[in-house]
Amino acid sequence: MGDRTYSRREFVCHSASCAAHVGLMAAVAPFWSRTLWAAQERFPVVASEAWGRLERVGEGIWALVSDPLRDRATLCNGGIIAGRSGVVIVEAFASDAGSRWMAERAAELTGRAPTHVVLTHYHGDHTGGLSGVTALGSPEILATPVTRDLVMERNQGAPSAILDRVQPLDTIRPTEIDLGDRSLIVVPRRGHTNSDITIQLLDPSVVFCGDLVWNRMFPNYVDATPSRLTQAVQLIRAGDASTYVPGHGPLADNTAMDRYIGLLQDVETAARRAIERGMTAQEAGAEYRLPAGLQEWTLFNPVYFERAIGAWMNELGTP
Ligand SMILES: [Zn+2]
Repeated sequence: MGDRTYSRREFVCHSASCAAHVGLMAAVAPFWSRTLWAAQERFPVVASEAWGRLERVGEGIWALVSDPLRDRATLCNGGIIAGRSGVVIVEAFASDAGSRWMAERAAELTGRAPTHVVLTHYHGDHTGGLSGVTALGSPEILATPVTRDLVMERNQGAPSAILDRVQPLDTIRPTEIDLGDRSLIVVPRRGHTNSDITIQLLDPSVVFCGDLVWNRMFPNYVDATPSRLTQAVQLIRAGDASTYVPGHGPLADNTAMDRYIGLLQDVETAARRAIERGMTAQEAGAEYRLPAGLQEWTLFNPVYFERAIGAWMNELGTP
């Protein structure tokens, strides 16, 4: 969390969720109108609720695109991946109701209860539903040790009995989850937090990106190491996948990824310029404008600009 002192309220917002202050978004976000929301569908929708829609990305692969404005049961994106010998759920979502709903969809779509749950990072909107993941059985829960410890330390009411069962993912080398006729490759990364992971699939080539990638929503740099974030995203993009499941926002393709990388670079440029001009992050954030072509992007909170530029200024060091 860095060396800032947070008020309790701020701390709860930051630690509980990388998608706090959702209510503010409506005021700044015409993109989230129902018509435009529906227009972002890339694949057939197999289930639709107030909190999001489940898109069928390929044989045995479904991605949840959460709609944070209407209902916060799930809040983040995630997915279901099925193979002959198991069913993996990506993320534990924001609430027990949200994760239970995903477990039920997994059972309905695949004919079996989830066997694994993989957490991409510790933020509360991805882990708040940990108790709900056991609704239909006792899946293996996979997370890096850093993620597990941060959930325990920072997220109010984290279920210690479930966290004690977490199977540690390697933080140096990729881990394979073998589902018989399909393998998932879990790749340790960092940048959005000190410990993120992505999940890569082949045929079709799909990457579940966690919050390293945001689409049509400005990313939250609250725990970010910005240079690492950009590097991680460039490495993900280098895999040239056909579909990227971002942590928030509609499903992305390579064009959307290039736009996102352009945005990350634009934020870096703004931060370097602010340092040259002796500005504070607050001043630079107040005058920051999204690059051309990203006018339809939105943000959970206007303070995200200041936070992103401030994260870069911290990393670069102000003279
Ligand atoms: Zn996050």
